[in-house]
Amino acid sequence: MPRQPAKEGPHGEGELEQDLEREDAEEKQGQEGQKQAAQEEEVGAARSDTLSLMGFLSRFRHSRILKRKLLDEEAWGDILGQHPILDRLSAEEKGSLRELVTLFLHEKTFEGADGLALTGFMREVISAQACLPILNLGLEWYNNWKTVVVVPDVFVAEHTEYDSAGVAHEWDEDKSGESWDSGPVILSWKDVEASGWGDGYNVIIHEAVHRLDLLDGEVNGRPVLHKGMSAAEWLEVFSRAYEDLRKRTRGRKKSRIRIDEYAAESDSEFFAVTSEYFFEQPRILRSEYPDVYRLLSQFYRQQPAERAERAGSACSPR
Ligand SMILES: [Zn+2]
Repeated sequence: MPRQPAKEGPHGEGELEQDLEREDAEEKQGQEGQKQAAQEEEVGAARSDTLSLMGFLSRFRHSRILKRKLLDEEAWGDILGQHPILDRLSAEEKGSLRELVTLFLHEKTFEGADGLALTGFMREVISAQACLPILNLGLEWYNNWKTVVVVPDVFVAEHTEYDSAGVAHEWDEDKSGESWDSGPVILSWKDVEASGWGDGYNVIIHEAVHRLDLLDGEVNGRPVLHKGMSAAEWLEVFSRAYEDLRKRTRGRKKSRIRIDEYAAESDSEFFAVTSEYFFEQPRILRSEYPDVYRLLSQFYRQQPAERAERAGSACSPR
């Protein structure tokens, strides 16, 4: 897959890049040490501490990037205007997101595939929505991935599974995004364009949330929680809601459901899809599964339902 040429930077860019590369290497060394330490302690809270420390190490470097490369005001205004889920953020949140997006664009690599020519604006649109879940967490929560690959449309993933008799079953699946291992996050541009309208669908947030889920090494719908949050409560609340959704989608008497049924596929998909609703249609999630909304609110440290209430019914239907 062809890599996009790097954008020309302002005068002095080379020097800054060299400094930043050296600092990257130092930071990586620090991260390795932190990683080892974390393995020796309990996973949950210790990992959260590690992420905070890594955030501290990055702060100085980040302030240098922001001084030199803050995302262009006009492009930022366009992105906000075209994405109702971003436009309803407070002025302070918009400012923080703009900085986070600037850093995300600096740290991640973007590749267009299958003939897609990626523009700067496309990269910015993806970055803005990818950064929404980590707005109050920090960029270090995305340290377990580096590359975003964008394809023009849904793509086919080939699967092979062996049954108990050892017989291989092969099938193809259409996908709008993929984010299952340490490889790149893959997104279909068509689905990126369908994201951010406030209608509950967001492929970027969905795939990014799988990576948050993967931080503890397992994609199981149970992310690393902050101090003071209870893993037992998370498991209990999410399992109960997931089982309820499964019953409602698979029972004989199908009830009217306002959450995408894909959430009933697995506990990890439930976490990813309810996170999409959390940011896209928070009031629907809050009324369907209030405890899930409450825990997501603690995890993401955001109150999007209040945000949506402030914005009223400003999101016009497509
Ligand atoms: Zn998924």
